[in-house]
Formats: sequence, C-alpha cells, structure tokens
Amino acid sequence: MTSVMPTYARADVAFERGEGAYLIDEEGRRYLDFGTGIATASLGHAHPGMVEAISRQAATVMHVSNLYRIKGQERLAERLCAETFAERVFFCNSGAEANEALIKLVRRYHFANGNPERFRIITFTNCFHGRTLATIAATGTAKVLEGFGPKVDGFDHVDVGDLANVEALIGKETAGILIEPVQGEGGIIPIADEFMQGLRKLCDKHGILLALDEVQSGMGRTGKLLAAEWSGVTPDVVSLGKGIAGGFPVGACLATAEAAKGMVAGTHGSTYGGNPLAMAAGNAVLDVLLAPGFMTGVQAVGKHLMDGLQAMRQRNDSVIEEVRGKGLFIGIKTKVPNMDVVNALRAKGLITVPAGDNVVRFLPPLIIDKKIADEALAIFEDVCRDLGQ
Ligand code: PLP
Repeated sequence: MTSVMPTYARADVAFERGEGAYLIDEEGRRYLDFGTGIATASLGHAHPGMVEAISRQAATVMHVSNLYRIKGQERLAERLCAETFAERVFFCNSGAEANEALIKLVRRYHFANGNPERFRIITFTNCFHGRTLATIAATGTAKVLEGFGPKVDGFDHVDVGDLANVEALIGKETAGILIEPVQGEGGIIPIADEFMQGLRKLCDKHGILLALDEVQSGMGRTGKLLAAEWSGVTPDVVSLGKGIAGGFPVGACLATAEAAKGMVAGTHGSTYGGNPLAMAAGNAVLDVLLAPGFMTGVQAVGKHLMDGLQAMRQRNDSVIEEVRGKGLFIGIKTKVPNMDVVNALRAKGLITVPAGDNVVRFLPPLIIDKKIADEALAIFEDVCRDLGQ
C-alpha cells in the first residue's frame, strides 16, 4: 500500500473476488455490494455473459489500433445510436476522457460553423465532471482545482434552478451548456424536468449545444438507458463511462451527426479507446440492458428500494434526513456524518459510497432482485437503530 500514491483515503479492506451482487474479501467475509466500484460494475461481479465475452475476445484479439476498422466498435456504436438520440460515437477509456471528447466536440462544432470565438461552456454549481485539467475546470470547485496551476479557461458556473441566470451568462463566446441530469458526486440530486427542458430551449434560441454528462447517471442506472429520457429532452452530445462496460474501462462520447461535424480525421484519438476487448465488454453489457423487460425491472426494484428507504426514514428520523434519486441511483442524506454510516454499513456487510451533501449512495448492480434489496434494507435499518441511539 505504501508504494501507491496516496490520492485516496482507502478503507482497510481488500476484496478478492465477487459473485453477482456480492464481494468476498481476503479473509473470506462476504459483503453485499451496493457501491459497484462507484456505479460501474453494473452487472455485478463475474457475470457469466461478460466473463464469456471477455475471455473469448482475449483469446481472439485483444487490441488493434483505431487505424483499422474494429467490428465490435462499429457494432456497439450502432447499437447505442439505435437506442438513443445519437448518430456518432467516439470511444475512450474513462468518464473524464469522455468529457474531454465532449468539450472538444462542442468547441469544434462552432469552429466548423465559422465561429471559433464560441468556446465557453456553462456548467453548474455542485457538478462533477472528472479529474483531468479541463474537467476540473468544468467542475470548478476549489477542492479539485487547488494547487494545479491556472484553471483551464472556458467554463462559466451558475446555480441550478434559475433559467434567467443561465441565460444571462450566455454571451457571444458561449458554445454550450453541460449538465448532469442527476448530479452524482454532488449527492444524487435529480435536476427538475422543467429546468432540463428550459436548458434545451435556451440552447436552441442561442444556437449553442446541450451537452449532458451521463457518466454516472447513464447506461440504465436510473431505469432508462439515459437519465435524460425521463425529462424528454433530446441532447446534442452525451458523455458515458462507468457502467457502460460493467467494470472494463470504457468511456464514450455520443452526439448527433450535426453536433459532431467538426470531429473529422485527425481531430481526436485514443490508443486504447474502443479496442476489441473493451468493445466485447461493452456489447456484453448492452446484451443484458437491452433484453426485453430489463429496464422496467430496474425501475421496479428501484421503486421497491426507494419505498423501503422512505418508510425507514419515518421510523429513523434522527438518522435519515432525505431519500432521493431515480431507479437504482439513490442518495440517502443523513443527519449523522455520512462516513459514519458508510463505515457502520460496511462493518455489517453492506458496501455503499459517500457523496456530497452528507449523502450515502446506494448504487447496486442493475441485476438485483427485491430479495437482495430487502437484505440491504435490513442492514440499513440495523445501522439506523445503532446510530439513532
Ligand atoms: N462525470 C461524472 C458525472 C462522474 O460521476 C465521474 C466520476 O465519478 C466522471 C465524470 C469521471 O469519470 P472517470 O473517473 O471515469 O474519469
């Protein structure tokens, strides 16, 4: 551990293997995993379809360059386009990289239109877009920017909620608006449908692009492939990551053909992005997500969990302040320090993840059933009772 750069405050537990919704540590202790590596192991652990697809691809060809056609990449791009607003996809290796592609695409769109002065992007208070130099500037908080030199120029921040304030920020250099439809790291805060629809109208009125960061909220997490579907808003560009390949490092930038028109040969690239192994993982995840009834199943078990947590809040109002979220993207704002809750839950065998606004996140695998949800609820109630005393 000492040779690893200490950029994380790590819990002293090492997981050795996983089985579905469960993780087993090196001492053989079993945990219910409602963290999924922060909304990433969306099919749980050692999913047979993924194991088979990755093993088969690894034994065939793992990597070739994007200098050549990659059939798995074309297939995944076509499937994502068929299911969403998108007509073009760029594959990379992480959420931050997906946002880098998104930012470049937004700027390049205006460049291609003969308006290179349009490069600024409006982002929102309490957002999180990643850890690269541009994405920390997009995030904009002192916490992520401190000590890293001059902030990358081109991001203007505004509070969520007031469309007039957003419009007041749109100037002749503005290229687009970037928002998470449900703020994840900020504390699982769903953005109101009317606000999302208002942003769409503002973008249309001012000839700028609506960009959504769905790295955490996308790929079925809310019970729809994209969380934006709940508001009925059609974006111009969307970033994806995390759950897109169930734990294999994949990011993607999806866009309409119009929005992507500046992204011609030579404008962007990635050595690993969309390689055959990564695409085998991505296609295997999509096989499950697109199976008939899967998304309604996510919605149903999400509602079951949410109802259970709301009832628990009433019984434990000295511990739980609010329960919010969509599908299996759930935040529990606690009245005691959220890390105390996360640690107490882990001690009782339930893995969760903290978030901003003193929130404990429930991010279970999308494959859980009500029985597994009940198991988590029972542990949570137990911890509420302990901490409420
Ligand atoms: N965007 C959002 C909304 C995220 O939640 C995250 C990660 O938490 C990122 C971007 C960055 O993704 P990655 O850590 O894969 O670079």
